[in-house]
Amino acid sequence: MMSKSFHPMVRTLMGPGPADVHPRVLAAMARPTIGHLDPQFVALMDDIKALLRYALRTDNLLTMPVSGPGSVGMETCFVNLVEPGDKAVVCINGVFGGRMKENIERAGGIPIVVADTWGRAVDPNKVDETLRAHPDAKVLAFVHAETSTGACSDVRTLVEIAHRHDTLTIVDAVTALGGSELQVDAWGVDAVYAGSQKCLSCTPGLAPISFNDRALDRVRGRRTRIQSWFMDLNLVMGYWGSGERRSYHHTAPVNALYGLHEALLMLHEEGIEQAWARHRHHHAALRAGLEALGLELIVPESERLPQLNVVGIPGGIDDLAVRQRLLNEYQLEIGAGLGELAGKVWRIGLMGYSCRPVNLLLCISALGAVLR
Ligand code: PLP
Repeated sequence: MMSKSFHPMVRTLMGPGPADVHPRVLAAMARPTIGHLDPQFVALMDDIKALLRYALRTDNLLTMPVSGPGSVGMETCFVNLVEPGDKAVVCINGVFGGRMKENIERAGGIPIVVADTWGRAVDPNKVDETLRAHPDAKVLAFVHAETSTGACSDVRTLVEIAHRHDTLTIVDAVTALGGSELQVDAWGVDAVYAGSQKCLSCTPGLAPISFNDRALDRVRGRRTRIQSWFMDLNLVMGYWGSGERRSYHHTAPVNALYGLHEALLMLHEEGIEQAWARHRHHHAALRAGLEALGLELIVPESERLPQLNVVGIPGGIDDLAVRQRLLNEYQLEIGAGLGELAGKVWRIGLMGYSCRPVNLLLCISALGAVLR
């Protein structure tokens, strides 16, 4: 039993997420809790939706945070857009594409897998061939920023291909949002979900989503009832929708939403293009530092994410011992490899508030000292 208040040591979070949370966000979360139907709170919800539209570069009316982590955002997209018996093409180039496939199966859909090497972007030619071979596919799903490998896929091209085949797109932007260029409307993304805990510098547990009219028409035209009560967008929209009267659906995580609001406000103050540029800029410095230490990034340069740098662990180095020393001696967290890359790589995040010069310097000097 823990017999006193919990006061964690402060860490520098440079793994795959959560990233460092900005003090302004933590301060916002400590403000007084009010009712989730209080007019003040309803006004805050409207502002959150407007700020999310800004961050996602969209005018989609259905743009809101789902109460739950990124995985609930993912599941919301699949349970609403995939019906039993629907074919869905899913690109797997890392762990999270695999999770999407499971979601399709659990929604009763038939996944058609486009497999790519871990550490590489999704291959648009393979997607085109697969959609050609399966003209009845209802959905194309892929991950923009694959956090398990550090690879960035070309959203614009993949969505274009899907639309040529009259297929709806679901894009995972959990790690992408705020760190990599994402233009939901200009690129025609139909449904997208993200996470609060990465490049938004917020705490974990909220999942922004956005659906365009095509995606909403698909939800409205379903043959079958959505099997999830909590994630059924027809019901959730009674609370988050734009109508005059908001009705109770579930008790929103009020203080967590104060935090998301503050985080989105900060992103707006910085400017979304400037945030993308900051991630690129610090990534270049981190890469130079890592290379100077003899570490190599596993993703080819043109397919690399700035916010997640995945390096091979040099031969003879004890993965766990290094990460433990970084944590114990430098209060620095970097990420272990996931899935088939477990034990082979480290994942070094530069996400949101973690993406700043002081973190860069700590990471390079601490890694240098531990690897010496
Ligand atoms: N998708 C991607 C690309 C992720 O990186 C993550 C989490 O790391 C998720 C989905 C799931 O998000 P969460 O862990 O918040 O449920």
